[in-house]
This record gives sequence, C-alpha cells and structure tokens, in this order.
Amino acid sequence: MSSQTESDLVDETAPEVKIKLKRRKLSGRKKLCPKCLSQLVLASPLSGWLVPEYYGCPKCGYSGYVALEEVPKEK
Ligand SMILES: [Zn+2]
Repeated sequence: MSSQTESDLVDETAPEVKIKLKRRKLSGRKKLCPKCLSQLVLASPLSGWLVPEYYGCPKCGYSGYVALEEVPKEK
C-alpha cells in the first residue's frame, strides 16, 4: 500500500502551482473600450512583438491601440 501515499504527495503539490499561475494573470489591470467602456480583448494582428498592444472590443467593434485602464478605487 506504499504506492497510495506516493500519489497523495503528488496531488498535494499540484494545486499550489496552479493557484500561483492564476494569481499572476488576475493581477493585470483590465483594459476598457474608450467608446462603450466594456472590457477589451487583446487582438494582435501580427506576431505580437512588433506591435505594443492592439485591442479589440467585442461589443462595439472598436479596434486600436488606445485603451482605458480600469483603476481600482482606494478610498
Ligand atoms: Zn466598445
């Protein structure tokens, strides 16, 4: 029955790594559409390293480099 304890150890370490990766993604600020203020999605027409950040709005169809940053209010 020693094989059972081995698999338990592996399961314990796995979730921690996943949580750390998720937290990194959530720390980024949201980009909002300057026209309709809905959340923008990254839409890089080229490979990505030549263009800084090209955004697209799935709601109103806006696309461009201008994006509003959602700043959390601290008060
Ligand atoms: Zn929009």
